[in-house]
Amino acid sequence: MKYCPQCANLLVYDSKIARNSCPCGYVHWNSPTPVVATLVLYTKDNLLPYNLPDQPDYGLLLVQRGIEPQKSGWCFPAGYINQYEEPTDAAKREVREETGIEIEIQQILSSRRVPNPHVNQTVTFYLANPIGGLLQHGDDAQNAKIFSLHNHPSLCFSTHQETLDAWKRSYFASR
Ligand SMILES: [Zn+2]
Repeated sequence: MKYCPQCANLLVYDSKIARNSCPCGYVHWNSPTPVVATLVLYTKDNLLPYNLPDQPDYGLLLVQRGIEPQKSGWCFPAGYINQYEEPTDAAKREVREETGIEIEIQQILSSRRVPNPHVNQTVTFYLANPIGGLLQHGDDAQNAKIFSLHNHPSLCFSTHQETLDAWKRSYFASR
């Protein structure tokens, strides 16, 4: 934001508070926008419903992006939180809209800043189990697919890939 929404003066950077502000008292807080993303894990216990070529013990639900940024890249189902929406409800809704799958949230995996100076977002990552639904892509996903956890495309966002790598290390270290 360049101009004050209260008095239309040019906003100036105030180094004391590390934010743009206006002599009228307006401060542009520019807080990051929260995003949710979900690692949906299929296991033998929650019955992989599809015949995958290598019959894996673990499956991972990914979506192929239909829009920029990273159009055609694969990542976790993810999206913005609606007004007054619980973050966990947003995570469930995004998985449902993009893949048709219903989930149960297990835990928070991480919360990360998007490491891009042009993107002012933080992403909260959840781990979830599938509990129903029918796999079909929708919303802004051009494809949705269950991959073997050990044989899947690289994720197109570094925060997604790093969260997956860290979770795999701790999950399989205890197994
Ligand atoms: Zn002002």
